[in-house]
Amino acid sequence: MSNKRKPKFGQNFLVDDNARHAIVDALGDISNRTVLEIGPGHGAITSLLAPRAQRLIALELDHSLAAELTFKFRDQPNVTIVQGDVLETDLAALIPEGTTADVIGNLPYYITSDILLQLFAAGRAGLLNRAVLMMQREVADRLSASPGVKEYGLLAATTQVNAEVDNLFTLPPSAFNPPPDVFSTVLRLHFAPRFEELQVDPAGFDSFLKQIFAQKRKTLHNNLRAASYDPETLAAAWPAEIPPQARAESLALEPLAALYRALAQHPR
Ligand code: SAM
Repeated sequence: MSNKRKPKFGQNFLVDDNARHAIVDALGDISNRTVLEIGPGHGAITSLLAPRAQRLIALELDHSLAAELTFKFRDQPNVTIVQGDVLETDLAALIPEGTTADVIGNLPYYITSDILLQLFAAGRAGLLNRAVLMMQREVADRLSASPGVKEYGLLAATTQVNAEVDNLFTLPPSAFNPPPDVFSTVLRLHFAPRFEELQVDPAGFDSFLKQIFAQKRKTLHNNLRAASYDPETLAAAWPAEIPPQARAESLALEPLAALYRALAQHPR
């Protein structure tokens, strides 16, 4: 067993005992739940989840850590350690058919956005209920930001069309060994995709969000011009509720969806 940190895997292990309890408590009652843990490391969270969860599946990229945990939990039949890359893993295959899972993880920060997109896709497929995730504070602030504040942008809009977000608590670098260079925040997501309610198709609305948040300095109108919408189409489709000079960063999902729907009815 090696305790040597492998920086390329984003390995900062949680050593604050109150924090690891608070993270697991944030998932609520898991006695009849399947829980997926991303990046269990040495098992700081895993060892609290194992006696509480009906079924725990922990996905660890590092071979030596996965082997260490497989040995540690060998007598706990409700715990499965899977060695592999979460981003290469088909989450659907891990979740018993007809059920949903909860996700927990002190994430490897270098792939936070990719993991989030993977979880949103699984949430849309009806596979997930909630997630408690630790990430870099600045990223957490961007996920949970409201329109009009400087952190609001593509990440907030993409997150909030897929899930309700609670920003729970922040930990200093000293909660980890080795300490990272940044503060860390724990968020809870409740997967509740809003595409149907907003009357938008998920893939089309995803692409639209990327277009309208492409350049922060540009107005919504100019970002759409850059995405090759012509001025006549924009004039014909523009909803009265959106000021002509508005930036996407100032608008909630409802007016953005209204614009998307209106543009979908006007051939480009
Ligand atoms: N959960 C542990 C804790 O709180 O002490 C470790 C957290 S550490 C920030 C992130 C963990 O994710 C490491 O154990 C790392 O090896 C693992 N990891 C990194 N990339 C991964 C990937 N692509 N798939 C699965 N696990 C990964």
